[in-house]
Amino acid sequence: MIAPLMPTYNRADLAFERGEGVWLWTTDGRRFLDCGAGIATSALGHNHPHLVSAIAAQAARVIHVSNLYRVPEAERLATRFVQSTFADSVFFCNSGAEANEGMTKMMRRAMHGSGKPERTRIICFEGAFHGRTLAMLAATGNEKYLEGFGPPVEGFDHVPFGNMNAVREAVGPETAGIIVEPIQGESGVRPASLRFLRDLRAACDEFGILLGLDEVQSGMGRTGKLFAHQWAGIEPDVLAAAKGIAGGFPMGAVLAREAVARHLTAGSHGTTFGGTPLACAAANAVLDVVLAPGFLEGVCRKGEFLWRGLTDLVAAFPSVFAERRGAGLLLALKCVIPQAEVQAACREEGLLVLVAGDNVLRLAPPLVITEPECEEVLARLRRAAERCRRPAEAVA
Ligand SMILES: *Cc1c(COP(=O)(O)O)cnc(C)c1O
Repeated sequence: MIAPLMPTYNRADLAFERGEGVWLWTTDGRRFLDCGAGIATSALGHNHPHLVSAIAAQAARVIHVSNLYRVPEAERLATRFVQSTFADSVFFCNSGAEANEGMTKMMRRAMHGSGKPERTRIICFEGAFHGRTLAMLAATGNEKYLEGFGPPVEGFDHVPFGNMNAVREAVGPETAGIIVEPIQGESGVRPASLRFLRDLRAACDEFGILLGLDEVQSGMGRTGKLFAHQWAGIEPDVLAAAKGIAGGFPMGAVLAREAVARHLTAGSHGTTFGGTPLACAAANAVLDVVLAPGFLEGVCRKGEFLWRGLTDLVAAFPSVFAERRGAGLLLALKCVIPQAEVQAACREEGLLVLVAGDNVLRLAPPLVITEPECEEVLARLRRAAERCRRPAEAVA
């Protein structure tokens, strides 16, 4: 008989009842160090006092009023994003897929509004992940996710990630723009080179098309800048954010330049739950922490610390790990043996890690992780690797 909770996930047999910082406790009292952060989402960890009190205080005032009225918390949040990014205007929604949908609609609408209605197609990349709505399944382009869900939504062309020649060849008279993840998360924490991001920006300018960034996973401080594209010194035309944006409260956002945003007039796009007082209070609380002086530098420092530790682990356990990659606190270890085996060993050591494509273990701890906790992550990873290591003779 089917479970009442629809079985669309392969769930680990762990149920958490409480958390504190990077730590989670199961209902039967076991403690885990959380390097998954609810899939790179619980940016401030668990039970963060500032986030908890902001949510509790807002819930006691007003939770939801709809976008028929002004929402001061949303106006404040949008202003803060405008002040700290390339964006001139922000649309709030509820998830990464919805943010990417909004971004795609805005790219098409901007072309329509500037006399190029034939430009509707978006160039995407092999290995991308943009979400599970029908259009974002097509943007993702992964056969496994599309299977059985009928004809894929039209308008998305895929080229190899990192291949500028293929991008230039794919641009045609119907191209509206390019959507790219600065770091492909789900397909295995694969960073685009900074050069590639700059070349994409230049190509968009050359062809008169729009650059859209999916920073749902790489954004909100995850790499040590508010958004990962800032490392390349470029600015997109439009950007999708979600995951860590409200510290685990469901939220997404589309950030846009005025040249794009001005084509979205009243009634042209919407969502019931987007930008509620409660969601925006949570996101404002996250920004209070992430934009505080020194916080992002701390993310960089802790990321470098983990990077060095992962480098040592790869050297020490060649029968388990092939390489490390990533940026800031979005890191991965490519495994030699099946990733699930290493993940299970980590769990035995009280460490929660994610897996991703390309047989990697993915580490995306809460951004508030401390350096001693990073040391503890490395110690547990080492013990997990010792459990998995193959006899020396099997190594060669
Ligand atoms: C998680 C993710 C999404 C989808 O976000 P949802 O909130 O699950 O809809 C889209 N793009 C990227 C890069 C992601 O990591």
